[in-house]
Amino acid sequence: MVEFTSLKRQFDLYAPEYEEALLRVARSGWYILGSELQRFEEQFTSYLGMQYCIGVNSGLDALILAVRALDIGPGDEVIVPANTYIASVLGVTENGARPVLVDPDAFFCLDADRIEAAITAKTKAILPVHLYGQPCDMERICAIAEKHGLYVIEDCAQAHGAAQKGRKIGTFSTIACFSFYPTKPLGAQGDAGALATNDPLLAEKLRKLRNYGSGKKYVNELVGINSRLDEYQAAILQVGLRHLEEGNAYRRRIAERYLTEIRNPLVSLPKTREGCSHVFHVFAVLCEQRDALQAFLLERGVKTLCHYPIPPHLQECYAFLGHSAGDFPLSEQYAQQELSLPIYVGMPMEEVTQVIEAVNTFQGA
Ligand SMILES: *Cc1c(COP(=O)(O)O)cnc(C)c1O
Repeated sequence: MVEFTSLKRQFDLYAPEYEEALLRVARSGWYILGSELQRFEEQFTSYLGMQYCIGVNSGLDALILAVRALDIGPGDEVIVPANTYIASVLGVTENGARPVLVDPDAFFCLDADRIEAAITAKTKAILPVHLYGQPCDMERICAIAEKHGLYVIEDCAQAHGAAQKGRKIGTFSTIACFSFYPTKPLGAQGDAGALATNDPLLAEKLRKLRNYGSGKKYVNELVGINSRLDEYQAAILQVGLRHLEEGNAYRRRIAERYLTEIRNPLVSLPKTREGCSHVFHVFAVLCEQRDALQAFLLERGVKTLCHYPIPPHLQECYAFLGHSAGDFPLSEQYAQQELSLPIYVGMPMEEVTQVIEAVNTFQGA
């Protein structure tokens, strides 16, 4: 069976380094807000080329705190791609603000051409999501934000190390949000996330918000939360960061094989925007007979997933936004046609060959 992913194989590749990191934390006797987190924050800051990094509990918490730190709340609007993972939208609604959804471009990213029509007097920020590991057109998005006086909050949860014209994602915005969920390009062994910014005041505010709104023990200036990246995850992430470029390169090699060796008129392959480096967190193909293709591949021993089968505007939890089927035709089409092929660090190339052969023999239902 070709698994969709295997964290076990990824662990085995670097097992001695992970084990050393875990024991180092256990033996230190210090488990929350210590030197491991400080070291990881410094390393991630310098990897990105940013001034400040603030570790939190999850990617969702990073999004929630980014929106909160910019004082965006009830009565405000934030522009979000309609085809994103639910967390990007939750980051907005958790603060009482309204997500204004916009259909994606041909690269599955927030479509810069559709942003201006969605801007109103209430718009405070644009929240591009570098979906599947590919950068949005940040040059254009930032130009639009600047013209209209809006913040940009990047959702970098799937794209650690991706870049547009050599400039890393996470460096374009007021605040960038990262998830280190175990399967992400940079993954912990539990929940973890981070924010990056160049603004010293925002960095200080975010540091307080993640720790009960407190900068000094038992002195609470803000209404904060408990969202601290713990020492174990911070130590694991230092190992992950050392191997991030190598992992991204390995997934690109798999993607390169899929792009050159998959030949099936029923299956359309993902496109990469010119000037962008894609890290292929997800290898997303489109197929009008997606469910039949998925069942066919499973019969031939290949597991796949759909990212994502129901777009946020059609989820029950967002009925209150008042949308209905047909409002975001491209997002709905992608939800019906997208299929993600296995692509992960540690995936044997023979299994990649198996996936290619299985996809190429699909002749439709
Ligand atoms: C994974 C993910 C998140 C949320 O990250 P968690 O760490 O799981 O909370 C947010 N946005 C996108 C696009 C994601 O893929």
